[in-house]
Amino acid sequence: MSSVLESQLEERLTAEAAVRRLVFLQAVHALDTDLADRLKDLSPDEWADYSALNAWPQLQPHIKQLQQVDAALCQQQLGLYGLCSDCEVELSREQLYQDPCRQRCSLCHSKHLNSQQGSWKL
Ligand SMILES: [Zn+2]
Repeated sequence: MSSVLESQLEERLTAEAAVRRLVFLQAVHALDTDLADRLKDLSPDEWADYSALNAWPQLQPHIKQLQQVDAALCQQQLGLYGLCSDCEVELSREQLYQDPCRQRCSLCHSKHLNSQQGSWKL
């Protein structure tokens, strides 16, 4: 990947993180304004682990979105952004463009989905 492309994709990730965090905060605010205020005092990368959020199961999809964005930002800090988190193959530009938070190549992604479905059956 060229460094120009890389920085474009990384800018996209930063923008995606900002959008997801805003949507999340709005969703929390709609349910519990005090909780939203408490979250604002924390660093956004601590939000997904905030235990008071468990009182609102409807926030789970938003929390998952946050976790994806946190994981991608963490990879970016480590200089591993754009690599599959399982097999470390380089993800294609198209894949990252479609989903800046993408963590896995197609093969590992389907394996991961299968394993998740397996655990839901328990
Ligand atoms: Zn992979």
